[in-house]
Amino acid sequence: MLLRAAVFLGVATASAMLTGGETDTPAPRSPAGPAPAAGPGAVGAAGPRGLGAGLPEKSYRLRPMTAESPVRPPAAKPAVRTRPILELPEQERSGRAMVLTFDDGPDPRYTPAILDTLSRHGVRAMFFVCGEMATDNRDLLRRMASEGHVIGNHTWTHPLIPSLGRGALESEIGRTSEVVQSCVGEPPVWFRAPYGAWNRAAFEIGADLGMEPMAWTVDTLDWKEPGTGAIVSRALDGAAPGAIVLNHDAGGDRSQSVQALATYLPQLLARGYRMTLPTLPSR
Ligand SMILES: [Zn+2]
Repeated sequence: MLLRAAVFLGVATASAMLTGGETDTPAPRSPAGPAPAAGPGAVGAAGPRGLGAGLPEKSYRLRPMTAESPVRPPAAKPAVRTRPILELPEQERSGRAMVLTFDDGPDPRYTPAILDTLSRHGVRAMFFVCGEMATDNRDLLRRMASEGHVIGNHTWTHPLIPSLGRGALESEIGRTSEVVQSCVGEPPVWFRAPYGAWNRAAFEIGADLGMEPMAWTVDTLDWKEPGTGAIVSRALDGAAPGAIVLNHDAGGDRSQSVQALATYLPQLLARGYRMTLPTLPSR
């Protein structure tokens, strides 16, 4: 009970702080921060202020950005996990199935070429987009969806999740789902934490918005710009039934990532691998 109260107080405090501004607002204190000093009096003092100022802002966050695309609550929320999904389950690995994922975009300098390569080989992939990139490149989100790719949520600004208060994290994740929904008509059903840095709040908020958490098994380390050959080698060496491969289509100079995909994808296909998309775990 004490923990619940502390978390609730943290949410109210964070929500109240968010009303003061948007991205300029300093990160709220940790929910655990004010809890020890907060007796009944403190709760009573924070309550009306926090709730009165906080709830309108919070409900604004959860409303669609345009009237044309209402946010529908998920029919059945996924269970709150304690670890992300790393690879395809056994029953989805037939035909040497693998999954390609691309994070941090979309970026008009690189994402179109990646989409072109995937299209040339008839391959569908997952794009974990950042809201701040997505909102400026809505045409690319629509192209992803129309070509059968899956759009996942990768937060709005790519923060280190454990450094955020709960209200800020809710905003990061919720706004990104809103942008995806307003662009392509459906909210994302997969979520990936930046840097693979998860915490309990991330699992809870993701599940509440109808998303499953997905990580990866093969990191191409393309974001280090190690040279096209190094990226190709890591993708080929890591290939295995059920593998989930991490690439990036934004966040820096991704020309090596673009080149590497064009090189390793046909080689994986020639080796008998099949690029696929995961199915949602049953709820
Ligand atoms: Zn990322």
